[in-house]
Amino acid sequence: MVADRLPDAAEVESLNAEFANADPASTLRWALSRFNDRVAIGTSFQASGLVILHHAHVHHLPLRCFTIDTGLLFPETIALRDRVTNYFGIEIEVLRPELSLGDQARDFGPELWARRPDTCCTVRKVIPLQAHLLTLDGWVTGLRRDQSAARQRVQRFELYRFDPVRDKSILKINPLADWSRDRVWAYVREHEIPFNPLAQRGFQSIGCQPCTRPVGDHEGERAGRWTGFEKTECGIHTFMEAHV
Ligand code: SF4
Repeated sequence: MVADRLPDAAEVESLNAEFANADPASTLRWALSRFNDRVAIGTSFQASGLVILHHAHVHHLPLRCFTIDTGLLFPETIALRDRVTNYFGIEIEVLRPELSLGDQARDFGPELWARRPDTCCTVRKVIPLQAHLLTLDGWVTGLRRDQSAARQRVQRFELYRFDPVRDKSILKINPLADWSRDRVWAYVREHEIPFNPLAQRGFQSIGCQPCTRPVGDHEGERAGRWTGFEKTECGIHTFMEAHV
């Protein structure tokens, strides 16, 4: 069953038609008015997330914000998190895995990311996110269709069941679904938003240190993630079952 404040599949379809060409701020405004404190922006401080935070800030939309700290992030990403907190004057809730890196090595062996990255991502990202989503009805993300082949069908609004046992669903809200990478970066530069300095060293998609490398001019935006594995997604956007 879908909670009362969540739209059903028919309303999601109509929302996607209504907001197809809408400014991100309109999408964020709708989310806030519908869910109040039961919606939050999830970000890893990549350029798309920064654009969303900026829209919320300049349009006075006090959305909650959270991020996941796996314990394996680049120092530059941690520094940016602190800078963004001050720049926008917001609180950012930091989700952390239950297992420390030492616990993980004890339970699964050393450098799990180099042997079983899916398990590592589940422990360090998906499980903390699942727990947090139980407190929300709406989750704002920076997903864009042009990021990869796997993301080409991203809609502005997507309804997912993520916990069949509790019958818990969530509305994923992707205000930049139709934005290109160039448009995102033009916005960041135009508004002089602080960004991760790794971006200027070829890191187009920035995750954990062991699983991220810079990419060449002819590679896709997410080609530098999990090199040597078939894996293209960490799992936070793929563990849920879509409503049809
Ligand atoms: Fe582990 Fe790599 Fe996933 Fe980070 S991105 S949680 S290090 S497998």
